[in-house]
Amino acid sequence: MNNDSTTRQDLVDSRKIMEHIRFLSRKIGGRGSCSLQERKAGDYIADQLRALGIGNVRSENFHTVPSTYWAFALSFASAVTGSLLVLFLGGQDVLILAAIMSGLGFWGMLAETEFATSWVRWVLPRQPSLNVSGWITPKGSVRQRVVLCAHLDTHRTPVFYSSSRWHTLFSFLVGLTFLSMLAGVFFYTTAVLLGWGNLRWVSLGLVPIQLFGLGMCLHADFTPYSPGANDDASGVAAVLALAKRLTKNPLMGTEVHLAFTGCEEVGARGMSAFLERHSKDLGREAVYIILDEVGLGVPKYLTADGLLIKHRTHPRALEVARQAAQVLPGMKIKEGAGQAYTDALQATKRGLIALTLCTIPDPLSGDESHWHRMSDTLENIHVEDIENCLTFVWTLLQQMDRQGAAPPSQFNE
Ligand SMILES: [Zn+2]
Repeated sequence: MNNDSTTRQDLVDSRKIMEHIRFLSRKIGGRGSCSLQERKAGDYIADQLRALGIGNVRSENFHTVPSTYWAFALSFASAVTGSLLVLFLGGQDVLILAAIMSGLGFWGMLAETEFATSWVRWVLPRQPSLNVSGWITPKGSVRQRVVLCAHLDTHRTPVFYSSSRWHTLFSFLVGLTFLSMLAGVFFYTTAVLLGWGNLRWVSLGLVPIQLFGLGMCLHADFTPYSPGANDDASGVAAVLALAKRLTKNPLMGTEVHLAFTGCEEVGARGMSAFLERHSKDLGREAVYIILDEVGLGVPKYLTADGLLIKHRTHPRALEVARQAAQVLPGMKIKEGAGQAYTDALQATKRGLIALTLCTIPDPLSGDESHWHRMSDTLENIHVEDIENCLTFVWTLLQQMDRQGAAPPSQFNE
């Protein structure tokens, strides 16, 4: 059968897709980073891949800090302790100490959002997590490689994700807390250097901001984990659907790898571990396609990714996405910057070619986001939205395969 003649029906087994999402979001439920549930999700996926006849399934362990909020809390705690000391004690030595502590807070927060190492990561305890991966060989010789990725774990459900208004306020406060620590470094240092002791009163403005940030982080770690039907059982189910399709009908010259990552929600740590182990062998031309929240709304690929600093998507990744969108004129596909980071950012920051595909609820349809909420359940998944994303990725794979593969005659056996 010709790959091009693939109909939507061939590509998508909607019942199976919903079955995967049901199993992950209901039967297993919230899948906290480094939790037993995350591991169960990994085991379930490994079984599914083996059932598809994929013989090279790997479960690879790595160790990381199981909460991103610990790192933020420690950063804010450092800054706020410095500011409180300045407020209540004052004096040259205290101002120097507070400038250092604000600097440590600033460094800790920036490093955490940028996936870099810092003092907070050095002191926090680590726990085991896992990635599950495998690959599907092409019909002919390998001309290029694509890595399809989705994450196993789900996020906690703090109040600042509970409504769009809260989320807007929170995003603003995250930026403000970050700047407040930078302000701490600047004003306390200036106070020391110029002998302007009165600058210590700046801490009156900084303390409430940093205390609020600290409170929010401590609160977050006491909330339950989201069932994560959309984020990201939908992505997992979509990659499994593509794997099924590819095992039945492999591409001509494109080797397709599958990476199901742990600990995406705490700094894309599984993706980092995967790249450390495999990116060299996969080569710098490999294209990473990350499916994250593909079950509710209009398909959108990201042109930039990151929490505080937005990193531009690799031009080659955008090129393949735009080419696919071009041949699907009937499908509404958006492009734009992402809200937070995704697994793609780990690859993008290494100069690799990575594209995130997600869905954005269409306000006109009355749908709202259930991102990091307990309402991210099977009932709020639109299987037809996953189908659209699958059509998009399938088209993209076909196009890449045609461009990257040699004339078909060379592959005839
Ligand atoms: Zn996600």
